[in-house]
Amino acid sequence: MSGAGERSEELFLRARRVSPGGVHSPVRAFRGVGGTPRFMTGGAGAHLRDVDGREYLDFCMAFGPLILGHADTGVRLAAEGALSRGWSLGTAEAYSLELAELITASVPWVESIRFVNSGTEAVMSALRVARAATGRSKILKFEGCYHGHTDSMLLRAGSGLAEAPLPDSAGLAPDVVRETLVAPLDDQAALQAMFARYGREIAAVIIEPLPANYGLLPQRPEFLRSLAQTARAHGSLLIFDEVISGFRLSFQGYAGLSAIHPDLTTYGKVIGGGFPVGAYGGRRELMELVAPAGPVYQAGTLSANPLAMCAGLATLQRLADGRLYRRLEDLGARLQRALGGAPGLALQRVGSIFWICRSGSGFPVTPMRAPQHLPPDAGQRFAPLFHSLLARGIYLAPSAFEVGFLSAAHSEADIDALAQALLAPEASVHGGGDGD
Ligand SMILES: *Cc1c(COP(=O)(O)O)cnc(C)c1O
Repeated sequence: MSGAGERSEELFLRARRVSPGGVHSPVRAFRGVGGTPRFMTGGAGAHLRDVDGREYLDFCMAFGPLILGHADTGVRLAAEGALSRGWSLGTAEAYSLELAELITASVPWVESIRFVNSGTEAVMSALRVARAATGRSKILKFEGCYHGHTDSMLLRAGSGLAEAPLPDSAGLAPDVVRETLVAPLDDQAALQAMFARYGREIAAVIIEPLPANYGLLPQRPEFLRSLAQTARAHGSLLIFDEVISGFRLSFQGYAGLSAIHPDLTTYGKVIGGGFPVGAYGGRRELMELVAPAGPVYQAGTLSANPLAMCAGLATLQRLADGRLYRRLEDLGARLQRALGGAPGLALQRVGSIFWICRSGSGFPVTPMRAPQHLPPDAGQRFAPLFHSLLARGIYLAPSAFEVGFLSAAHSEADIDALAQALLAPEASVHGGGDGD
């Protein structure tokens, strides 16, 4: 039972013949943990089912969008409604209007919003707006923060790159990369030095206010506040990339929790209810720079697709009264209690986002707030844990550096099952080292 089933093995062979690594997004290939990825046929609630008929309790949740769980009935009905009326109109329509009104009404620093098809696209477009607004070209980002795969953001980016042999992607144009500055997280002095040197050239600072693509690295509020102040003092815009944290931690995202209000915000994941989506928004005068209102061009054949808009609206409406966030917080606290003090295991958690870190050499005394604070063996210690959980029917994201997600579909019993599996002595499961 420990290896992949026959059908997954067979499909992986075929998939590698026709697609790079056999997948359409790198982490899915299990390179970081070894072995053969499970080919899934579908999901329901907190569970995934694979082609060999096995069930898994899922804590990856499609890497974040599924805050209500797999195939949630309300979201399904909303999407089916859209489907029955025609699934791509390419015209003005009211589906996206409803979602835009809901978001702008509940997030005061997002006065105007534009929908796109992915978080990557949202970031790309927000950076363009920032450059147009300031007439400057440099962008400052942070080491370990992931902002999608647009060229200028693929430096020290975390997510799939966290387990790659080199911290930057190949194939980046040198001229593009030259415009990106990279600063360490949680380092006020380095930030000041960067602004002292380049301040007048920096169009925007972009940060995941809760970095969640290189483990989970909560920042000190003072650091985020000083970042906002420093950017403002130098006439640079502040962009919060809330693609992962938006509507997941609270209805106003991390900006709401931290009371720091960025000039521009990017969204994705949760706001499409599991359908392809992204969005960028912010102060009206900045967003009025976007075509056709202004000179910054940005367009999309399938933008504001009715399925994503209706599924997203149904999802956000369920979250709007805040009750689900409290429920998710309770589930998260339960996990934390169950794991408290387990040797060799650290749990980082904010709301429904959690990260499990294993180490044989011990953990840093200071809280983990930057990639360099992680124990050096975290990557290699994760693979056996991952496979031991998988053999017990529990699915985590197949990478040491990806976070886990709780959803409304998880029960107390599901949390206890995860905790129990994490505390169980690791079965020596083969499959941890036979990756290709
Ligand atoms: C997932 C993610 C992105 C990229 O979104 P895609 O839809 O995968 O392009 C960008 N920023 C953050 C913070 C993310 O977590």
